[in-house]
Amino acid sequence: GQKVVLITGCSSGIGLRIAVTLAKDEKQRYHVIATMRDLKKKDKLVEAAGDAYGKTLMLLPLDVCSDDSVRQCVNSVKDRHIDILINNAGVGLLGPVESISIEEMKRVFDTNFFGVVRMIKEVMPDMKKRRSGHIVVMSSVMGLQGVVFNDVYTASKFAMEGFCESMAVQLMKFSIRLSMIEPGPVHTEFETKMMENVAKMDFPGVDADTVRYFKDVYLPSSIDIFEAMGQTPEDIAKCTKMVIESDSPRFRNLTNSLYTPIVALKYADETGGLSVNTFYNLLFNFGPLMHITMSILKCLTCSCLRRRTISPN
Ligand code: NAD
Repeated sequence: GQKVVLITGCSSGIGLRIAVTLAKDEKQRYHVIATMRDLKKKDKLVEAAGDAYGKTLMLLPLDVCSDDSVRQCVNSVKDRHIDILINNAGVGLLGPVESISIEEMKRVFDTNFFGVVRMIKEVMPDMKKRRSGHIVVMSSVMGLQGVVFNDVYTASKFAMEGFCESMAVQLMKFSIRLSMIEPGPVHTEFETKMMENVAKMDFPGVDADTVRYFKDVYLPSSIDIFEAMGQTPEDIAKCTKMVIESDSPRFRNLTNSLYTPIVALKYADETGGLSVNTFYNLLFNFGPLMHITMSILKCLTCSCLRRRTISPN
């Protein structure tokens, strides 16, 4: 029979594309429950789903920040039976920490970390009873490697990586699979939303040097990196499909081979010096030469590292 897949955050970006890709599976192997906070935002998804809408794809409201919404949503699924849970909903947060309130930081954790915990707590007991299921979490390379001026976002993804790495052990005992997907930069509204927020920022309480490092050094090189190695939501959807269709899915799944050397630095030097120094040099010494740096990275990405990523092609 069909597998029931519930996905969070499907009104845009990666979530929308995963929902559509699975709903359009040639063999119709999936019954996709695409969820979003506000069903008024369903048009883009419905349009992209085409014929699949109402057949292999249905919609439900779900706000991962609300206990009630999470419970109601899962209760309205037939027999509460979910074979595959894809935790995709997430928010970004960019800028010098001095200019970000603790309240804003908590909102990021409530979505990116507690949002996933809420979903897993609601769905896992039924999966345990059935001794089957697959939980997929949209993490990020920033769940493995800190990135300057993304301090709080990175921390929220690290928190989730730690939570899931711990959970994976007991879930294995119940034959429940748990997979993290770690994309590098992906062209979605995520990027646009963050840039819009940055444009609105007036950096209260931040010294002039920090503002300059953020606006004139970090932002241009970040845009360069998106340009040079950004993937599409389709790429990530294909990787996700590969992960859920694998006979023995891996726990961690990097999607971008260009980013693998950056993550590898961390594991090559357990003191942390290599990755911190490399990031420092990339940002403050090679900034204007980012394109050359990117070419060097491409060369560094030997076939051995490439094989460690989930390739969408
Ligand atoms: P996006 O902004 O297009 O999608 C995020 C979705 O989550 C949106 O539809 C948003 O409405 C939804 N969402 C936010 N808060 C929610 C809540 N409380 N309840 C339910 N839904 C909520 O961006 P995206 O790039 O598609 O992001 C999807 C995931 O991929 C996120 O977890 C993000 O951290 C991760 N990711 C993105 C990138 C990137 O560069 N875009 C890279 C790595 C990982």
